[in-house]
Amino acid sequence: MQVGFNKPSVLLIYTGGTIGMIENSETGLLEAFDFHYLEAQVPELKRFGYNISSVSFDPPLDSSSMDQFSWIEIAKVIEKNYDIYDGFVVLHGTDTMAYTASALSFMLDDLAKPVILTGSQLPIGKLRTDGKENLITSIEIAAAKRDNGLPYIQEVCVFFENKLMRGNRTTKISTDHFNAFDTPNFPPLADVGINIHYSKAVRSASLLPLNAPLKISTSMDANVVALKLFPGITPIVIDQILSIPNLKGVVMETFGSGNAPTHEWFLSALRNAIETRDIVIVNVTQCIMGAVEMRRYKTGNELSEAGVISGTDLTFEAALCKLMYLLGKGLPMDAVRKLMQEPLKGEISLD
Ligand code: ASP
Repeated sequence: MQVGFNKPSVLLIYTGGTIGMIENSETGLLEAFDFHYLEAQVPELKRFGYNISSVSFDPPLDSSSMDQFSWIEIAKVIEKNYDIYDGFVVLHGTDTMAYTASALSFMLDDLAKPVILTGSQLPIGKLRTDGKENLITSIEIAAAKRDNGLPYIQEVCVFFENKLMRGNRTTKISTDHFNAFDTPNFPPLADVGINIHYSKAVRSASLLPLNAPLKISTSMDANVVALKLFPGITPIVIDQILSIPNLKGVVMETFGSGNAPTHEWFLSALRNAIETRDIVIVNVTQCIMGAVEMRRYKTGNELSEAGVISGTDLTFEAALCKLMYLLGKGLPMDAVRKLMQEPLKGEISLD
């Protein structure tokens, strides 16, 4: 397929995952879809009249195997093709889509074009697939322009089933339902039914000019760890985790509005990691909805006094990716702590 400048143009970046699978009619087995024959596999795409091209990861990855290097690869493909296309659709496995969307939102600076991640619960080659609708609507959103010629969307989003969501606000909520993603602390950017209804916030957003140059970050520091608290957690678990060599950041998943045990061994382990090793410890809640408020209960307050910072309403995925991104910049740890608590790409609510 040729890329031209007179029709809307969209680049599909197939990274792997269920959406790109098709059933081999002879063997009945699911195999990775050959994107060179995209129009043959999804003939509906011709009806757009757009220039649609595709590139594929080689080999395609199940998203459970994605890491910071895969995110960098996607960011580089977008950078290389940025001036040629009106928008980008990243086809991705659903399992870690919320992480990739979060990471890309931080890694792509001054993004003036839509980057829409989508996938599906059933392969595109299955009769009841949700993949075709997800793909077709994502392409439509990636190409959509306002009357002034600027795109509706200038950020990294996830589109799934009937919602366009800010990428760094999403989380996968179902292994089974077609409605597999949610955006618990932030309203959808568009509701999709017969029509695509962009939210008021999208319609009134201040926009970047299309010629704003894209900048990408290609260093993500993976010296981070997730620490999920549970009743009965023992000192050895905490000590082992906090003594991981080269550890720089911890996303600690706490109870309710940011609460944790008040045992002295626990608090002094955190204090010690912060004071002697300058480790950044971010508090996010295990609840799906709502925010950390460390000043609400004594337990949370003790964390704050130990030097733990609040992740407010960051999703776990966004907190982890943001930490990797900020640590990758090599900033002083206090600057990382400060920026973790400020919205960089709409990932955190201030109120
Ligand atoms: N394991 C698959 C993946 O994340 C699941 C999916 O695509 O839905 O790549």
